[in-house]
Amino acid sequence: MKKLYVISGSSGVGKGTVIKEFLKKHPDFRLSVSCTTRGKRDGEVEGVNYYYLTNDEFDSCIENNEFLEWAEFSGNRYGTKKEIVENCLKNGENLILEIDTKGALNVKSIMPDSALIFIAPPSLEELESRLRGRHTETEEAIQKRLASIKLEIQNSEKFDYKIVNDTVENAVRKLEEIILNG
Ligand code: 5GP
Repeated sequence: MKKLYVISGSSGVGKGTVIKEFLKKHPDFRLSVSCTTRGKRDGEVEGVNYYYLTNDEFDSCIENNEFLEWAEFSGNRYGTKKEIVENCLKNGENLILEIDTKGALNVKSIMPDSALIFIAPPSLEELESRLRGRHTETEEAIQKRLASIKLEIQNSEKFDYKIVNDTVENAVRKLEEIILNG
């Protein structure tokens, strides 16, 4: 693997869009597909957005030591398979992980050469309105996600880079600067 980039950001910050735009311009980068116990959202596809596992399936991946890292986020579990990172290592590919800040700090402790990038919202008010605008979560889920933001911002102080997502174009340009110029 050339390099591992770990990108985190609060829910609704638009990190998925930023990463998607980056990948369109740089198809030689791979995006890791994580496992999750959360339900599939409308429009999501098995094997593209996530591998959707039952709690039992997730437990057995943990028991079999198949995860590089995993974390609980907002009442669901999410994990990165070791296999994905090992395959990229073998094939000399650059890999991007889109995971939460706890997972990112775990990856950094296992793979200190990885680069941690945090995508921050322009403001908390803006973030809350984006989260509500998605109409994908219940009010309870939104409240849980808002509560986790504080911790995410605290964790991000240990990250290597921070990008404020004011507009998608600006954020993609900053991401390119970091990834392509180091
Ligand atoms: P969502 O449910 O919105 O798709 O994701 C919720 C959070 O879980 C996001 O912060 C996302 O980056 C994170 N996440 C997704 N996959 C993984 C993973 O494999 N490991 C960890 N630690 N977090 C993940």
